[in-house]
Amino acid sequence: MVVSKIGIDVVDAHAHFMTYATVKGFIERASQEGQDGFAKMQNRVQSHTDMKDFFIPDENWDPAQMWIDELDKYGVSAIGMMIGKESWDEFNEARKRFPGRFLGYANIDPAAEDAVDLVKRAGKDGFQGIKLYPSSWKMPVYDERVYPVYEEVRKQKLLVIAHFGITIGTEANLRFGNPLDIQKPAHDFPDLNFMIAHFGAGFFREVLMLMYQTENVYMDSSGSNSWMKFLPYDLTITKIFEKAMKAGGPKRIVFGTDSSFFPRGFRYNILEEQYNAVRSICPQFCYSDDDIDMIFRKNILDLTGFEPA
Ligand SMILES: [Zn+2]
Repeated sequence: MVVSKIGIDVVDAHAHFMTYATVKGFIERASQEGQDGFAKMQNRVQSHTDMKDFFIPDENWDPAQMWIDELDKYGVSAIGMMIGKESWDEFNEARKRFPGRFLGYANIDPAAEDAVDLVKRAGKDGFQGIKLYPSSWKMPVYDERVYPVYEEVRKQKLLVIAHFGITIGTEANLRFGNPLDIQKPAHDFPDLNFMIAHFGAGFFREVLMLMYQTENVYMDSSGSNSWMKFLPYDLTITKIFEKAMKAGGPKRIVFGTDSSFFPRGFRYNILEEQYNAVRSICPQFCYSDDDIDMIFRKNILDLTGFEPA
């Protein structure tokens, strides 16, 4: 067992594996119409995240080693990574070099022709899940065009992670960003598990209601949860955990940091903040060390069958 800086064993269920190709892709997409893509990304990162700078890595940097150094520094056993097509091969290499440290989730866009093939490939490559991003789609997650994806997810025994709510993506459509949309697929695929990122990123009420209405929907706590700024009432991280505990219990809350870029690296401040928040609501809403262990380590392992090194 690895003991983290906060004194418990930790698995971070939600982060992003950014390779040189990933960052290059961001800038290329932002550069359309003759605009300066780097400046655009820099502005967006400064106005929409807690990072001061957006930086372009050089071509031969080694994100796998950089992540392992970060995990070792803070004592985190394993980390779950969202993987795009452009970083897939490099990620497979990373998992071979450092077995038991990286969980993989394949980004799937159901509108892409190869969506089902990618899910199959994710299963064959030993990934743990797929990531859906309906806030950026032109269809809801219950659309019948998404169903072949769920069918394949079932065959490959993968976890479905979905980002609803607000997003840093520039082409978001919040009409498809309501987590209630997952109720239908969750009902139609009772043997699949669905994990909603960032407590619904603004649609917190809806996510809490799903705790009552479904049995196979989980909440991930990842990121700064700055969506709370856009609600018409005051919330704190502690209050979020208290509500989530009351509605779903410790079994349905999964810890994540949403770490992504370097030089920021592993967002230890988020681990510390969320751990303190959960500790502070013990013993009223969180009864034991086992509850804490479920949130910060065990739940994601149960959902994926992943075994950390
Ligand atoms: Zn994320």
